[in-house]
Amino acid sequence: MSSQRQAPKTTNETLGEILAPELIHTQKTGVYRQLRELDDQDSTIAIINGRRTKIFASNDYLGLRRHPDLVAAAGDALGRYGTSAGASRLISGNCHLYGELEVKLAAFKNKEAALIFPTGYMANIGVLSSLAGPRDLVLMDRANHASLYDGCRLSGAKLRRFGHRDVERLQWLLEKNTDHRRRFVVTDGVFSADGDLAPLPQLAALAARHRCWLIVDDAHGTGVFGPQGRGTAAHFGVTAPVEIGTFSKALGGLGGFVAADRLTIDFLINKARPLIFTTGLPPATLAAASAAIDVILREPWRRERLLSSATRIRQKLAELGFDAMAGDSPIIPIMVGDEAAACRLADDCLEAGVFIPAVRHPTVPRNKARLRLTVSAAHTTADIDEMLAVISTIGQRHGLV
Ligand code: PMP
Repeated sequence: MSSQRQAPKTTNETLGEILAPELIHTQKTGVYRQLRELDDQDSTIAIINGRRTKIFASNDYLGLRRHPDLVAAAGDALGRYGTSAGASRLISGNCHLYGELEVKLAAFKNKEAALIFPTGYMANIGVLSSLAGPRDLVLMDRANHASLYDGCRLSGAKLRRFGHRDVERLQWLLEKNTDHRRRFVVTDGVFSADGDLAPLPQLAALAARHRCWLIVDDAHGTGVFGPQGRGTAAHFGVTAPVEIGTFSKALGGLGGFVAADRLTIDFLINKARPLIFTTGLPPATLAAASAAIDVILREPWRRERLLSSATRIRQKLAELGFDAMAGDSPIIPIMVGDEAAACRLADDCLEAGVFIPAVRHPTVPRNKARLRLTVSAAHTTADIDEMLAVISTIGQRHGLV
């Protein structure tokens, strides 16, 4: 639905009053969004509505955002360089921490070079809008992250979607659509709403056979999957020519990056508007991300504990009778269906001291609303047991199990 009226009826009608019917429509359809204030005490506990609450809702998968090494590195850089880069990277905002971290990221992803953007969102729109253009074809998994769709739209390329993880449909699309300058297959490594992994071996084989380029957004896989946390492609032992990642999840920070061959990175430096026309990251943010990579390499127990906690939660939820999506990742969707029902379930869990957010349209298709539970290496066994007890009681009350 769109707002019916475009112009004010009277001179004192506000823009908000004209927009209101659209907003009311989001309330009626159960997809109205509100910011929630949350003062956290550690990686797993926060004060919400004045109440101590267990958080199963963060992407801080390895529990790094309060790690002493990250905090010390950021504090040191803050003291030395202050609070801002002061300008865009191509003007005067490119301190030596950028270059050092890009070398580290390239090695981590086994690529020639890397390029840091202010966020993962901006990396995605920068990469797609630069590499693809109106004469090109972008083939996307339907469940890809919104930023990949936005990047594709900005590129002007023709977009064709294939069903979630539907390799046969992708093959069909590749066979049908041959008349393009460049063709890209674009996928999340770990799907952010479903928590499952892309079939990268099949996608890489198809991309090679059809001479097109595979781009993997490994926002949720970096630091979590693969040898030493090098990501989903490394987990499967495949190579994607372009890999995108973020510092905002397992790395406990902020910022996005792309890893690729040197010339592709040089091309992006010259073309990617979300790099060229925005201010560089504060040096403290870069220092924290660099320390995060070191911790990930040095403390593999975090990844091991995270993945075994995820497995245990999935098993327990299935035993309790929940429709928890299969997968291996720390993103564990508990399917509900109806948007309003998912919100009521999340509200009741919150009331009982456990925060598991409801995820609704447009993040997921309509009537596929769910609770999106995420676990962290920082959760203890007792935290997990408490959460399971709460969701079990409330799931029964809602007739879900
Ligand atoms: N890609 C995926 C798959 C994501 O889930 C997200 C964040 N939700 C992003 C990219 C954007 O990352 P960032 O938060 O660093 O902007």
